[in-house]
Amino acid sequence: MSALQVVWFKRDLRLVDHRPLYEASQHGTVLPLYIVEPELWQQPDTSLRQWRFIRQSLVELDRALRQASDEGLGGLVVRVGDAVEVLSQIHAEYGIAHLWAHQEVGNAWTFARDRAVRRWVRQQGIPFTEFPQDGIIRGLKTREGWKEHWESVMAEPLVPPPKALSLADVPSEPLPMVPNSQMDDDPCPNAQPGGRSQGLKLLRSFLNERVRRYPRGLSSPLTAESACSRLSPHLAYGTLSLREVVQATRRRLAQLQSDPQKAGMARALSAFESRLAWRSHFIQRLESLPSIEFENMHPALNGMREEVNPVLFSAWAEGRTGYPFVDACMRMLYNTGWINFRMRAMLASFACYVLWLPWRAAGLHRSRGGRWVCIWRASMWTMSRASTGAKCRCSRAVQGWARSESTMWSSSLSTKTRTGLSFGGGCLS
Ligand SMILES: Cc1cc2nc3c(=O)[nH]c(=O)nc-3n(C[C@H](O)[C@H](O)[C@H](O)COP(=O)(O)OP(=O)(O)OC[C@H]3O[C@@H](n4cnc5c(N)ncnc54)[C@H](O)[C@@H]3O)c2cc1C
Repeated sequence: MSALQVVWFKRDLRLVDHRPLYEASQHGTVLPLYIVEPELWQQPDTSLRQWRFIRQSLVELDRALRQASDEGLGGLVVRVGDAVEVLSQIHAEYGIAHLWAHQEVGNAWTFARDRAVRRWVRQQGIPFTEFPQDGIIRGLKTREGWKEHWESVMAEPLVPPPKALSLADVPSEPLPMVPNSQMDDDPCPNAQPGGRSQGLKLLRSFLNERVRRYPRGLSSPLTAESACSRLSPHLAYGTLSLREVVQATRRRLAQLQSDPQKAGMARALSAFESRLAWRSHFIQRLESLPSIEFENMHPALNGMREEVNPVLFSAWAEGRTGYPFVDACMRMLYNTGWINFRMRAMLASFACYVLWLPWRAAGLHRSRGGRWVCIWRASMWTMSRASTGAKCRCSRAVQGWARSESTMWSSSLSTKTRTGLSFGGGCLS
């Protein structure tokens, strides 16, 4: 077997609009690789509910690769271990002619891992090509012209999925049920399923029908779960490309704009489209200022709230602050993995301003053995059901939680907090 074109899949679990895969397929036999990194899954912003979404997406990716393969052979090659060690083994056994991947804007851990991989390929003399995605620019010095850049990236034609892929006949390890045996169980009974087919279903139902309810429905958790697109996990793990979603939105917008009776829907779609741009804007912010993973954006706030009050913290994280609305939202997040952006902001504000908890401690709660989704970062992939039935059940469920909480709300939080802290003001704005 001649040396291989290795495509390293990370947060890009698709064949469509996948430049690394396309380019690799033009150069020779491809080894599509997914590395399950146990150390990654020890990081504080990871959870089993995320892994389940990824796992379902990998199963579909494997199927799609087999269908695209010229001989129906091959498929996704899964390896468990440290990225450099896995690549070294593959290189020793089969030879890597070229490594291909998308640039990842992850966290400090993934950045360090990517640097280690880059060091290793340099030592081995293996060419490594990383393509940007989502309009993000590495090493950006100034934001001037960034929006124009984003627009031009989004307007580029989608990269076609490779046809008659020549895939390497390399054995895969089985996809593990858990990526790290030390992870806590995390049932998430109403989690949103992964996989590109689910993402496409959501995109279609949103653009054709659900967007109608977007402007009025996105604020309340009762309506938001079906009125919002629910695409964030698919964008975060790349079962759909951002460009693909932007272009589908623009096509639909063009159809609607030609019909004056659909002006409301067209306005809703424009609002959605601008949120897709915000998404890249905030990712670019993290790329350009990675310290915000750990530090206050404004140094004047340093030292302001460093202490974690464990009683208040667990009351918040477990949805038993005694404030029915807060607790119902937190329980919805726990049970579905998803909460809409206004309630996300409300939960974050409540933790920081009302309970005076440090933002990072609250955001990383899950890392200390809790099972709650990180509100700030990991929830990028937030989840819920795609089917209408499940959505209705969830809406009723959050109403039910709110009702049951209101009867018992005074029992759970300390008197000092109930009486000593204001609940009004900015937290619901
Ligand atoms: C405190 C706070 C923390 C958040 N943390 C995350 C996060 O870690 N990851 C994440 O993807 N989103 C985050 N958001 C944005 C948003 O709340 C979620 O992405 C959204 O709830 C996901 O639901 P949806 O896919 O149905 O979004 P929709 O309302 O249908 O929006 C479409 C897409 O636009 C993007 N988007 C929407 N709102 C925002 C926003 N305010 N900022 C940036 N992008 C946005 C998302 O990719 C989303 O999937 C956060 C918002 C707040 C207020």
